Amino acid sequence: MCGIVGFTGRQQAAPVLLAGLSKLEYRGYDSSGLAVRDGDSLAEVVKATGKLRNLAEKIDNGAALPGTCGIGHTRWATHGEPSQSNAHPHVSGNATGSASGPVESDVVGVHNGIIENYEELRAKLTGNGYTFYSSTDTEVVIKLVDYYYKKYKIGPIDAINRMMVRVRGSYALALMFKDYPGEIYAARKDSPMVIGVADGETFLASDVPAILKYTRDIYYIDNLQSVRILPGEAHFFDLNGDEVEMESTHITWDAAAAEKGGYEHFMIKEIHEQPDAVRDTLASVIKDNRVDLSVSGLTPDVLKDISEVHIAACGSAWHAGMVGKYVIEDLAELQVTAELASEFRYKKILLDKDALFIVISQSGETADTLAALRAAKERGIRTLAVVNVVGSTIAREADNVLYTLAGPEISVATTKAYSAQLVAMYTLALALADAKGKLEKNDYDYYIEELLALPEKISRALENKERIQWFASKHSNSRDMFYIGRGLDYAISLEGSLKMKEISYIHSEAYAAGELKHGTISLVEKGLLVIGLLTQEGLLEKTISNMEECRARGAYLMGVTSNGNYNVEDYVNFTIYVPKTDEHFAGSLAVIPLQLLGYYTSIARGLDVDKPRNLAKSVTVE
Ligand code: GLU
Repeated sequence: MCGIVGFTGRQQAAPVLLAGLSKLEYRGYDSSGLAVRDGDSLAEVVKATGKLRNLAEKIDNGAALPGTCGIGHTRWATHGEPSQSNAHPHVSGNATGSASGPVESDVVGVHNGIIENYEELRAKLTGNGYTFYSSTDTEVVIKLVDYYYKKYKIGPIDAINRMMVRVRGSYALALMFKDYPGEIYAARKDSPMVIGVADGETFLASDVPAILKYTRDIYYIDNLQSVRILPGEAHFFDLNGDEVEMESTHITWDAAAAEKGGYEHFMIKEIHEQPDAVRDTLASVIKDNRVDLSVSGLTPDVLKDISEVHIAACGSAWHAGMVGKYVIEDLAELQVTAELASEFRYKKILLDKDALFIVISQSGETADTLAALRAAKERGIRTLAVVNVVGSTIAREADNVLYTLAGPEISVATTKAYSAQLVAMYTLALALADAKGKLEKNDYDYYIEELLALPEKISRALENKERIQWFASKHSNSRDMFYIGRGLDYAISLEGSLKMKEISYIHSEAYAAGELKHGTISLVEKGLLVIGLLTQEGLLEKTISNMEECRARGAYLMGVTSNGNYNVEDYVNFTIYVPKTDEHFAGSLAVIPLQLLGYYTSIARGLDVDKPRNLAKSVTVE
């Protein structure tokens, strides 16, 4: 997930590119770079790590990089740490990628997305004399275009088309070819990119706000389409290289709304990004229908000797850890603890020498989680970080890292990063179970199939939106709410309850359903909303009985289930059905209506959903 911009026209390119990137900085923020060319001269590349302002300073806000055609990038690293040599633009030649200056290469480009088969392609290109200066998948795809361009002596569009049939993964690419001054070539699959054409100039960007200042007539490039861009013109081509006619769309939103991709808030945008976050995270660790965690250093040999698992995290990441506990215990038959990092750090630590210690953090900077990680490291225990931000402190300090690929998350209340953490837990559970010989092949294949189907099922779970919005507005004046469930349903209740209280300020609690009668039920009074999580076949009847006990004392019941056999509607006042999946993974679907319920309740109460009072996104203090 990153930001791409491109410009060719009459004005100086660098200031336009910098302004565009500043609108996209929410998409990526670890490094940035530009390639600009002046007429027929070679493109000049300049890169900087850190925030965009470092790049702007380096080129005197654009003045030091003359030229009317260029491309730019802000990076959110997926392959290779954030560094000068991994920053984009990348070049086809054997340059040292960290160098700034004129580029002799035939192709220079920027990329958003992930090339899944980059290792295989890198080996192929190495066999053909290419050398690599970065650890990115991007350098590979640019060299692949260069390879076809030279081998078949074809034009840029044909070379790009050959590349598109060869690579797997997602990409939005913007390229400049030395032999085609004043032109930019672009292509995309599953990563966003738009083109804007104005009088004598053409703009390209990952997202509309980057170019809205210049034009409101936007072309949305189709998947597997390529584009030739000249000043004031854009020509679109299909995979056969035939030119296709495209219609532009006139944008009527204002720039601020567009930054949220047309959504009213970042939270609802991020809720909708969950299928992609889950798909990308799965794609990074499932190769040829097998979980492969070797990029994290967790080879089957390492996993098979792990004697027990301990998880420490805070907030929603701890809730993801609770799900991890249930799933790992059940599949891998290992003892698992899931502790709050703020508690763990001050406890006497009893860990087996062969234990795996897992910390989970979206930002990778959570102070309590970092302290827990350090405490475990001091004991010489193997540590694994499940982190969303590449290069963050926790990622750097842990022995092994498993990245969630949710992309930058802006709303304080997490949604897509949590969903990606769940998937990280599932794949780890499967890898552990497999390494320990706990799974039959058929079962393993079935779990993989179920995992790969999750993104599409999450999209379907999102279709409940209108009903939940209606229900939320009806209950938005509640004083208290309870979320209850057993087993994995309890773990999901914890997250559902937090989503409600953190953004709607309604007091809500999550209880293991069996616990109610040991005290809490005395709080039940007329009209209290009790939300039951009912996805676990063997437990749901018990939870329904506990809900009945609440109803008998005046509560109003909502059920979330995927179970069609058991007629939940007969027992509760309002039922939300989510698609069916294997029970270990059901939380990924059940949590969707709970996120929507929190969001719409906050909206109905007129609150600031993205920035709830008293809270910060990444908690770097104790
Ligand atoms: N996979 C590329 C990289 O790690 C692009 C990442 C992005 O979309 O920012 O450099």
